[in-house]
Amino acid sequence: MNTEEIMQLALKIAELKKTPEDSAVYASGDNIRKVLFGIDAGVPELLLAKQLGYDLLIAHHPQGGTAHVNFHEVFKRHVRQMIEAGVPLKEAENAVRKRLEELELSDHTRNYGHAVDVARLLKMPYMNIHTPLDEVGRRIMAQQIKSRTGRDSTVQDVVAAFNELCEFKNAVTKIEIRLGKAENPAGKVMVSHGAGTNGGYEVAKAYFNHGIGTVVYIHVGVEDLAKLKTEKNTGSLIVTGHAASDSVGINPFMNELEKKGVSVTTIGVIPGRS
Ligand SMILES: [Zn+2]
Repeated sequence: MNTEEIMQLALKIAELKKTPEDSAVYASGDNIRKVLFGIDAGVPELLLAKQLGYDLLIAHHPQGGTAHVNFHEVFKRHVRQMIEAGVPLKEAENAVRKRLEELELSDHTRNYGHAVDVARLLKMPYMNIHTPLDEVGRRIMAQQIKSRTGRDSTVQDVVAAFNELCEFKNAVTKIEIRLGKAENPAGKVMVSHGAGTNGGYEVAKAYFNHGIGTVVYIHVGVEDLAKLKTEKNTGSLIVTGHAASDSVGINPFMNELEKKGVSVTTIGVIPGRS
């Protein structure tokens, strides 16, 4: 396979038509048979990949180029997810405005050429695949809740349903209920993931204001959580853990690559098999 075919394979399993702004081929390559994959994979891993004879290094998180500079664009995916969950368009747009501006400003400060230039110097094919794999993970997590919980489920039942997935079973981190109580009714559950990063206070609040009882984030900032805790009419917030949740979407892709005859070694990925 070549790097473009590998990107297309990721898009296919994510059911996406085009490469999202936070994913890119930095240095293309052909005849890829041995892949090193890291949730985070920058200059040290490029050297390691070269030293150990890999044909390609794939990072999950963006490492440079347009994937750094245009990263904020994928945050807009929250708007579509909110609309699908019943949040009115205007409110959904308002809920992302502040964080979107922060992300755009911080993307603008990045040293986007650093790791990319190292890859070229080493002649090491290099790419990152972020949102497609998070979208795969989001679907798996949402499907798990749909099939394993019902109208009478509690917040703890939602946690238990996630814990049936191997990545969560195998992870050192535990799924945490950061807001609300385990015995509370879960109500409507929304897995908010696959939009670059978590939606913070505003997105969670928009969901709570529009009929969602339990919001699921894979991570949350300390200030956003503190702000949510000061609110009166909120539901529950479950935080599933970053590496474990990323791995839920990464492992199916690793399996697809293996099926195509590409061998994969992972760094930091939680095993998807028990
Ligand atoms: Zn991640």
